[in-house]
Amino acid sequence: MSGLNPFAIAQQQLDEAAEKLGLDAATHEFLRWPMREYHFTLPVKMDNGKTKVFKGYRVQYNNSRGPTKGGLRWHPEETIDTVRALAAWMTWKTAVVDIPLGGGKGGVTCNPKEMSEGEKERLARAFIRSVGRELGVHRDVPAPDVYTTPQIMAWMMDEYETMMGHSHPGMITGKPIPIGGSQGRGDATARGGVYCVREAGKTLSLDPSKSTYAIQGFGNAGQFAATLHQELLGGGTLIAASDSRGGVLNKDGMDPGALVRHKLETGGVANFPGSTPISNEELLVLDCEILYPSALEGAITKKNAGDIKAKIVCELANGPTTPDADKILHEKGVYVIPDFLANAGGVTVSYFEQVQNTYNYYWTLDEIYSQLDRKMTDAFHAVHEQAQKSKVHNRLGAYLVSVTRVAEACKLRGWV
Ligand code: NAD
Repeated sequence: MSGLNPFAIAQQQLDEAAEKLGLDAATHEFLRWPMREYHFTLPVKMDNGKTKVFKGYRVQYNNSRGPTKGGLRWHPEETIDTVRALAAWMTWKTAVVDIPLGGGKGGVTCNPKEMSEGEKERLARAFIRSVGRELGVHRDVPAPDVYTTPQIMAWMMDEYETMMGHSHPGMITGKPIPIGGSQGRGDATARGGVYCVREAGKTLSLDPSKSTYAIQGFGNAGQFAATLHQELLGGGTLIAASDSRGGVLNKDGMDPGALVRHKLETGGVANFPGSTPISNEELLVLDCEILYPSALEGAITKKNAGDIKAKIVCELANGPTTPDADKILHEKGVYVIPDFLANAGGVTVSYFEQVQNTYNYYWTLDEIYSQLDRKMTDAFHAVHEQAQKSKVHNRLGAYLVSVTRVAEACKLRGWV
């Protein structure tokens, strides 16, 4: 997307927060780097009988507040710097929603769209054979992310339990429900973001039920945001959506459920009946009230930030806005709900999954929703109030909340 190094961006964001907080030099330097990282070379037998060698990574960024937690991405452009950035953002994310976990992330450079189910299973098991001994409910807990699924989590848990010789459902989250998954995990990321939009609407006196909205990236997070926006906010008009193959626009509105079905049937949003094509670039600067960037990092840069017309940008994707663009959006008065707040619903329900696995007792969907709503609403207001008090943009406000909490944990442990 933007071509900027995401880890350099993550460090730059931290630097700004450290300066604003007057953080001491040692704590600042400590928080700029992952505490631990692993690189793997994974040989996998492919269906054609040949062995293919994949590169895998796991970064345990900071565990001062609890075991590291974070998803696994399988993406052709995965790099260690992307994983480091995402692991840093997980550290701030678990802190902003105040759950007792640290931040981590992992990935494999691969293209799952070109792999059979058998090849994916062998890759999942190879990854766990390499990293398994560093994982565990009290150590480091992976989860799904871009192009990884509950089925992949199931294979990983099975491989881990085979290695360890007993049951360990809490070693990974985002599992299918029959083998220890939680109710409500599927739509938790989008649901948490929509709760934040509801709260932002109250503070800005903007009625989301009468608003137009657009979604960049129509995958897991984007599809649920499309439907939940209307379900939880009592209305709203979905005017555009896009995925890696292109986008669709209909200013009169599209039925989100029908668009999801169209994507499932055809593999993309393109050619949705009644719509006209729109590029990803055009979608981002569309005249709409609420924009949900839900694809990958680096979508909003200094090149297009000045043209953004949305009043609220709810960042379901990780790192969709570069630091230069942040300042431009703030000066324009765009209300950004920053990624590690907006998309924290996923890790919050992952945490609920770990808790249920450890208790071996499972909550109802209503219990999950009400606990998630409480966590997200509290986090939203903590960030909003901090940003107002310090007169900074919301991302910096969120950093001030999270970095204060993580730095305090590091100090209490006597690390810095
Ligand atoms: P996903 O793979 O289900 O969906 C990604 C979508 O983005 C796909 O529809 C893909 O076609 C689209 N896309 C890729 N490149 C694009 C481009 N250049 N322009 C427009 N669309 C493009 O992944 P997901 O789980 O929905 O994750 C999306 C984002 O949300 C990622 O940044 C991820 O890290 C973040 N996130 C997801 C979760 C979760 O629980 N799913 C949690 C936290 C953060």
